[in-house]
Amino acid sequence: MSELPNLLEKGFAEALMNPRLRYLLDIKKGDILARNPECANCQVFKDCGTGCRTSALIGSGNILAKDPIACQLWKGGYKRRFMEIALAWERR
Ligand code: SF4
Repeated sequence: MSELPNLLEKGFAEALMNPRLRYLLDIKKGDILARNPECANCQVFKDCGTGCRTSALIGSGNILAKDPIACQLWKGGYKRRFMEIALAWERR
């Protein structure tokens, strides 16, 4: 992925023709779900949505993997806990 176009050096239209960038732009949610069946059956999928592609790449080495950090945040109840803390803070 290090050979993505640099918009400081190339025009936008030319950059969009780059096959590596096209691959990234063409990734669909269905591509991710096909490779991560646990996400398709996950109770918090509507909220998590398989997470962030960059985080998936950094966390697992695979841009089509589920995002391991988002998974921990949602399944570990951290998002709910953060919300509870924020709401408690607002009520002070
Ligand atoms: S919480 Fe985990 S299993 Fe559920 S959708 Fe997110 S990444 Fe997938």
